[in-house]
Amino acid sequence: VSPIETRHRADAARRRAAAVAALAYLILALLPLLLALGPPRPAGRRFWLELSLALGFVALGQIALQLALIARFQRISEPFGIDLVMRYHRHLGVLATLMVLAHVLLLGWQRPALWRALVPGGGGGAALGTGAWSTLAVLLLIVLSFWRRPLGLGYEAWRVSHALLGIAALVLALAHVLLAGVYAAAAWKQAILALWGAAFVGLIAFLRLVKPIALARRPWQVAEVRPDVRGCWTLALEPVGHAGLGFAPGQFAWLKVGVSPWSVREHPLSFSSSAERPERLEFGIKEAGDFTRTVGALAPGTRAFLDGPHGSFSCDFHPTPGFVFVAGGIGITPILSMLRTLADRGSGDPHALVYACSAWDRLVFRGDIEALRDRLDLTVAYVLEEGPEGWSGPVGYIDRETLASALGQNPTARQVFVCGPDPMMDAVEALLRDCGVPGRRITMERFNLV
Ligand SMILES: Cc1cc2nc3c(=O)[nH]c(=O)nc-3n(C[C@H](O)[C@H](O)[C@H](O)COP(=O)(O)OP(=O)(O)OC[C@H]3O[C@@H](n4cnc5c(N)ncnc54)[C@H](O)[C@@H]3O)c2cc1C
Repeated sequence: VSPIETRHRADAARRRAAAVAALAYLILALLPLLLALGPPRPAGRRFWLELSLALGFVALGQIALQLALIARFQRISEPFGIDLVMRYHRHLGVLATLMVLAHVLLLGWQRPALWRALVPGGGGGAALGTGAWSTLAVLLLIVLSFWRRPLGLGYEAWRVSHALLGIAALVLALAHVLLAGVYAAAAWKQAILALWGAAFVGLIAFLRLVKPIALARRPWQVAEVRPDVRGCWTLALEPVGHAGLGFAPGQFAWLKVGVSPWSVREHPLSFSSSAERPERLEFGIKEAGDFTRTVGALAPGTRAFLDGPHGSFSCDFHPTPGFVFVAGGIGITPILSMLRTLADRGSGDPHALVYACSAWDRLVFRGDIEALRDRLDLTVAYVLEEGPEGWSGPVGYIDRETLASALGQNPTARQVFVCGPDPMMDAVEALLRDCGVPGRRITMERFNLV
């Protein structure tokens, strides 16, 4: 079976997996509403009251599914790409919040006595109280997510608060439904809802408590830290007591280094090494904050743990003869992994790289890219914001002309991979479409998930 045929099969399998995951998602998200609609059901209620409760049940389903979306199950996220999953997670979070608010406002409009019952001593009871606390948890979660930086909340603290508030919102909303007992009064409905909710909380418990046991069994250690251009490092890891980690070139892993496998201090980093070398993994890291600024000082032998591989930003998942890569700054890392792997596999297909950077001496991995030109049919265009003296290549940002030249005669023939800063990715996506590249031929990886 040829490599292209293998990739065709993988592509078809991914489409099937995406369809199954989307269907399962829909069923699980709508389960509370379907249960509420099933008999026995109170009769003779007004439309606005019914609508309010329907919105509440749909919101409950969405809140629960939010936990599954971030539970890092590669089988769920891989067919869509982590980028898309996280974007969906954000949009859905806002939608679920609007539904919760609509539920509360419609209910308060139909039953004004409920507002009075909400005040302390108002006699609202546990059913109303749990609903109110769940709504507050949802609102706080949204406020902290949108205004994390102005509020001065660090990334790790935010992640912990995000997970805890999400679980609290779900558990309280579920208790609210079960205690209210109007649409879920039947014992069988209550049992199904309780099991359904427990499964989602269990997912998070699995990710945070059980999965680290598996990580602890497959430790890694720092083998080498090499400086590249100013502020960029290559971190090499080697397995301790196991054979390493297989991955598709371009994927990433969550790295914990110098901390316990249960620590919340972990960072997503793309592999920059060849997938043909699972026994020595490398990451290209740019200093951006607390953790990345300490990478240069990591001592060989420091213990590390890897949760991965994750992601769908990989040439292995696309069956085109040859690829076009567009990188900006440190976004070159997953692309370098793909190029190194293609070279190790003896690829004879035509590939093109457009690599944008602020200046010549800021181009990360330039030496490696130049060496890869000898091993691959690879054309390279560096685009510099500021060219050095005598520079005759493109200057400024990536433009249509440079992309059109990399794409060649047939802009639909090769899969295009884009990774770099957000504004660059948005601009490049628009230019690619303008050059006639269809959406399905563009694969993007955003380093900025939050
Ligand atoms: C899929 C993916 C692949 C990545 N690959 C690379 C790579 O190959 N090389 C590279 O240099 N960088 C990569 N990054 C970015 C890298 O994860 C962040 O730069 C790093 O986590 C910043 O951590 P810090 O503590 O140094 O910075 P901080 O000062 O803590 O944070 C700076 C910003 O980085 C982001 N960030 C911080 N911690 C995390 C975290 N745990 N998870 C997600 N985002 C975080 C937040 O937006 C934060 O505001 C990748 C990110 C993603 C999502």
